Amino acid sequence: MIPYGRQDINQADIEAVIEVLKSDFLTQGPMVPMFEKAITEYCQARFGVATNSATSALHIACLALELGPGDYLWTSPNTFVASANCGLYCGAEVNFVDIDPRTYCMSADALEQKLIEADKQNKLPKIVVPVHFAGQSCEMNRIHELAGKYGFRIIEDASHAIGGQYLGEPIGNCKYSDIAVFSFHPVKIITTGEGGLATTNNAELAKKMELLRSHGITRDPDLMTRKPDGGWYYQQIELGFNYRMTDMQAALGVSQMQRLDEFVQYRHVLKNRYDELLSDLPIIRPYQSTDSHSALHLYPIQLELEKLNKSHYEIFHELRENGLGVNIHYIPVHTQPYYQRMGFNLGDFPNAERYYERALSIPLYFGLNDILQNEVVASLKKVLQ
Ligand SMILES: *Cc1c(COP(=O)(O)O)cnc(C)c1O
Repeated sequence: MIPYGRQDINQADIEAVIEVLKSDFLTQGPMVPMFEKAITEYCQARFGVATNSATSALHIACLALELGPGDYLWTSPNTFVASANCGLYCGAEVNFVDIDPRTYCMSADALEQKLIEADKQNKLPKIVVPVHFAGQSCEMNRIHELAGKYGFRIIEDASHAIGGQYLGEPIGNCKYSDIAVFSFHPVKIITTGEGGLATTNNAELAKKMELLRSHGITRDPDLMTRKPDGGWYYQQIELGFNYRMTDMQAALGVSQMQRLDEFVQYRHVLKNRYDELLSDLPIIRPYQSTDSHSALHLYPIQLELEKLNKSHYEIFHELRENGLGVNIHYIPVHTQPYYQRMGFNLGDFPNAERYYERALSIPLYFGLNDILQNEVVASLKKVLQ
C-alpha cells in the first residue's frame, strides 16, 4: 500500500537518537532546548516550547491565553478534532467558521460576518484558531486585523505548515498571532514520533506554557512565593501537566530540521508533477494562493462527481483496492457525534461539508519517487476515467 503520507528517516536521524540513548539524559536534558532553538531560529520567533504532541501544545496555548468557562473558541470545521478539543479541555465553548471553498482554510469573510453577529449578541470569541490546511497559510493579515477590531487572540494551528511561508516570511514567526503550534506526528512535514511545539514572541506566554508543560512546577526563585528552602526546592504555582517531549524525540527533531527545506522543496516537485499529470482528470487540483508558499503536507483533490459515474465511496474503495492509501481530510468536526451532542447540525457549515463529500488526499511524502508517483497517477486514471 502506498500511504498518503509517511516519515523519512535517514542514518543521521538514527544516530542522533542512539547518541541520546547512550547519554545521561533521556528526558529533561540538553536536546529539547536545542530543538526549540532550531525551530525558533528557523521560524524567526523569539520563544519555542516543545511538547509531547501538538494537541498538548494547543491545550497549554489556550490556558496561557486564559481561556476558561464562559469563553468562546472558534476554529475551522475542516481540521483534525484537536484544533477544537483544546477549547473544550479549558471548559470553553467551541464554535466554527466555515471554509473558503478555494483554499479549504477558514474564510476571513465568513469570520468577519460571524464576528459582526457575535458582537450583537455579546458572544465574541476569546480565541480564534485558524488552521493552515494542507500547509497553506490562512489569510493571516485579515484575521489579525479582525483580532484588533474585535479583541480576540490568535493561535495558529500550523500542524501542517512547518517550512511554509506567508507573504515571504516563515509560518510560525507569530507576526499575525499570539502563538503558533506545529505537530511532528510521522505523517507531518518533519517528525519526532509524537511531538509538538508552540512558538510565540511573548515572553510571558512562553513562561506560562513552560510551566504548564511540566506540572506547573518552577525552580526559578523569581517566580516563587517565598525564598527557596534550599537547593532541592521547587514550587507548584499552577495546575500543569506532564506534556514534556523526551530527548530522544528532540534529537530526532533536530536532525530532521536539517532536511526541512529539502522535504518541502521535494513536496513541491511532486505537486508540480501531479498538477501536470492529473490535468485531464475530472478533479479539482489544490489551489495555491500567491500569498503563501505551502509546506504541502497534503495534496487534497476534489472529485467532480457530476462528471463521474461513481460515488465518493466507490472511488475511495477502488483506489484502496489498487494499493493507494488515499485518505480524506477532514470529516467536518461539527459532524462528529460528540459535537452533534453539543447542538451542532449537518448543514451548519456547508462549504466544509460539500468539500468533505468530494475530498481525497492522494500520496505525498518525501519517499515517493517517480516510479511510485507514476503508479499513483496510473491508478487514479484507471479508476477515474
Ligand atoms: C496532526 C494535527 C493535530 C494534532 O497533532 P498531534 O501532534 O498528533 O497532537 C492538530 N491539528 C491538526 C490540523 C493536525 O493535522
